[in-house]
Amino acid sequence: MMTQNYIGGEWIAASEAAPDINPSNTNDVVGEFARAGKAEAERAIAAAYDAFPAWSRSSIQGRHDSLKMIGDEIIARKEELGRLLSREEGKTLPEGIGEVVRAGQIFQFFAGECLRMAGEKVPSVRPLVDVEITREPVGVIGLITPWNFPIAIPAWKIAPALAYGNTVVFKPAELVPASAHALSEIISRSGIPAGVFNLVMGKGSVVGEAMLQSPKVSAISFTGSVPTGRRVAQTCISTDPMKKIQLEMGGKNPMIVLDDADLGVAVDCALNGAFFSTGQRCTASSRLIVTGGIHDRFVDALTERMKGLVIDDALKAGTHIGPVVDQNQLDQDLRYIRIGQEEGAKLVTGGELLNRDNPGFYLSPALFTEVDNNMRIAREEIFGPVATVTRVRDYDEALEIANDTPFGLSAGICTTSLKHASHFKRSAEAGMVMVNLPTAGVDYHVPFGGRKGSSYGPREQGRYAQEFYTTVKTAYTFDGNGPYVPKTKSSE
Ligand code: ADP
Repeated sequence: MMTQNYIGGEWIAASEAAPDINPSNTNDVVGEFARAGKAEAERAIAAAYDAFPAWSRSSIQGRHDSLKMIGDEIIARKEELGRLLSREEGKTLPEGIGEVVRAGQIFQFFAGECLRMAGEKVPSVRPLVDVEITREPVGVIGLITPWNFPIAIPAWKIAPALAYGNTVVFKPAELVPASAHALSEIISRSGIPAGVFNLVMGKGSVVGEAMLQSPKVSAISFTGSVPTGRRVAQTCISTDPMKKIQLEMGGKNPMIVLDDADLGVAVDCALNGAFFSTGQRCTASSRLIVTGGIHDRFVDALTERMKGLVIDDALKAGTHIGPVVDQNQLDQDLRYIRIGQEEGAKLVTGGELLNRDNPGFYLSPALFTEVDNNMRIAREEIFGPVATVTRVRDYDEALEIANDTPFGLSAGICTTSLKHASHFKRSAEAGMVMVNLPTAGVDYHVPFGGRKGSSYGPREQGRYAQEFYTTVKTAYTFDGNGPYVPKTKSSE
C-alpha cells in the first residue's frame, strides 16, 4: 500500500519505489514509498480537474464534516503519527507529537471556516444597482511541500484548499513520504469524493514540474528553498493560463538581545529558536544580535546551556535535539561551519560530528561569535543547528543589522524596554515579529509569512489563507424595475 499513490479516489501502484531512511539510525528503513512519474502526476491532475466542478459547489456542511473528521483522527492518533514523523524526519518525539497535534488543529480550524464564508453587499454608485462581492474557489491547486514539517505544512495547505472548494494534487518532499502517506490515508476515508484530493509522491523535478507545467492547474502553493521557489514562480507565469502562486522560502531570522533583557528569557529564546528541531526551521533564530553590555554574559550562559543539550536518537526519551535530516543537509551544515571559520568567526562550541548507538547524522549545535553581518554565515540560510552572534553598540545598530538581510520572515527582540520593543515591532522588515519569544513557534489561527526573499504572494494560515485559496468576484445587478414611485392619495 505504501508504494501506492492516491489518485482519483484509488490507491494506485507506482512504477517505482524508494526507501525512506530514519536519520537517527540509517539501518532503519521506515518503508518503501512510491516514486511517481510524469504520467501519474498528469493522471492525478486530470482527476482533480474533473472533480472540481462538483466539489466547488458542494455543501459547506459536508466539507466541514470531512475536515473535522480528519482533524479529530489526526489528534486521536497523535502518539503513533508523531512517532512515525520523528522516525522519518529526526525531530524529537515531543516535537513530532506536537507537530501532529498542530496539523489536527489546523484541519479543525478550517472545518469551522467552511461555515464562516461570507461576502459583502454594498451599494453601487449607480442608482438601482446592487453590488455583491463574493469569494469563489480557484480550481485545481498543486501543493509542493518541504521535509522539515512533514505533516503541519501539508495540513496548512490542504485544509484551506479543500475548505474553500478547491481540488488538490499534493506532492510531498521526497524525504518524508511516510507522514504524507499517513495523512493522505486519513483524508481518503473522510467522505471527500474521488479526485478531490490526490497524493503523488515523487521527485520535484518530475512530479512537481508536471504540476507547474499543466494548464489544468490553476494555482501552486510552494514551501521550500529560494532557488526552487524562483523556478516555480517563473514556470507558473510562463504557462497559459498563468497560475496563481504562493511561495514560502528561506529565512535568516535576527534575534536582538539588548542590555536590559532578562538574561534567562534571552538564553531560552536563543536556545529554542536557534537549535530546537535541529535548527531546521525557516523561522529559526539563526542570527543573534547582542549589545555590548550583555554580550559576554549571554554568550557564556548560552554556551553553558548548549553543552547540556542531549543530542541523540529522536525517539529516545530525554533527547533534546535529534539528528540532521540527511547526508546532504549534514554536508551543507559542515560546509558552512568551515566557511565560518575561514571567514574569521570564532566557533565557541559545537559543530562536531557525534557517534551514537546507531549510525545517524548527529551534529552538535554550533555557535559562532565575532560574526560580521557581511560574512556568508550571517547572510545565507544554513538550515541546520548553527547560529551566529554579532556584537553591536546599541539598539539602533542592532535594528540596522537585523534588517540588513535578503530575507524577512521572522524577527525577534529580547528586552524589558517598552520603547525598544514597540519601535522594533514597527521597524522590523519581517512578516512576523516576536518580543521576548523565539523567532520560531507560531500560532495556527493567524497569518504566517514574510517579506523580501522569504515569501511571495498572499499569507498562509488563519483566515488570511482565503486570499490565496479563493478568487474574488464582484457582481452588479440592476433589477430592471425602474425607479419606485410611491402611490399618493391624489393619484388614486
Ligand atoms: P529543500 O531544501 O527543502 O529540499 P527544495 O526547494 O529543493 O527545498 O524542495 C522543496 C519541495 O520542492 C520538495 O517537495 C521538492 O521535491 C520540490 N521541488 C524541487 N525541485 C522542483 C522543481 N523543479 N519543480 C517543482 N518542485 C520542485
